[in-house]
Amino acid sequence: MKEELRKLLEIQDVDSRIDRVQAEMDEIPRERMIHERELEGQKREFERETGKLEGIRDESRKAEESRQVTEQRLAEFKNKLLEMKTNEAYRAMLEQIKFAEKMISDLDSRIIELMYEEEDAEAELEDARKVWERNRKRFEKRQEILDGQLEILKVNMKDLQAERKDIAAGMERRLLDKYQQLRSTGKGLVVVGLIKGNCGGCLTGIPPQTAVEISQGSTFICPICGRFVVWTEDSSLAEAR
Ligand SMILES: [Zn+2]
Repeated sequence: MKEELRKLLEIQDVDSRIDRVQAEMDEIPRERMIHERELEGQKREFERETGKLEGIRDESRKAEESRQVTEQRLAEFKNKLLEMKTNEAYRAMLEQIKFAEKMISDLDSRIIELMYEEEDAEAELEDARKVWERNRKRFEKRQEILDGQLEILKVNMKDLQAERKDIAAGMERRLLDKYQQLRSTGKGLVVVGLIKGNCGGCLTGIPPQTAVEISQGSTFICPICGRFVVWTEDSSLAEAR
């Protein structure tokens, strides 16, 4: 094979490795984003539980206050009861007293309910805090590992780019440009072998005479897919029919 084509194959090999390193590098911020989103959700859950607990405590406080006020009014009603001049006024005051007593009883039930709700909410808040905390620590550790990997990948990338530069130095500009142009179309491999007399990229049959020339190191571009067709160790001419 011509030196130029051999170099082109080497460039292609380095480019494949560069692509793999780049893909790994791209994966790192993606993973970080997934973690951040997960933590954000767990933080929101923690805040939601905090809000719930605050709501319960608020209601508790109000119920206690309400109970105190009603307790005072009940005492006032009981004092006034003895001052009532008519039976009607006396009965009306008794009704007030009954109403206040009922209210206190209802508030007592609610206060006990709220105590249980507060306990549950405290436990749920603690669970949410633990989940959030645990994951934050786990992700922090994972991130440290990823940061380390990224550093290694950056070094690999630098080495590969230097290797590529070395190979490309002194190569025919026109050939490199053509390779670059083909590569940018996203066809994957741009330099392919001659496989059983066919283009290794699109499998189009190549005229026997051209195939022989390829086997002797000629530069050939497949007229169908535009790839470089070269002679590699897997290459062969068309089988005799
Ligand atoms: Zn082809």
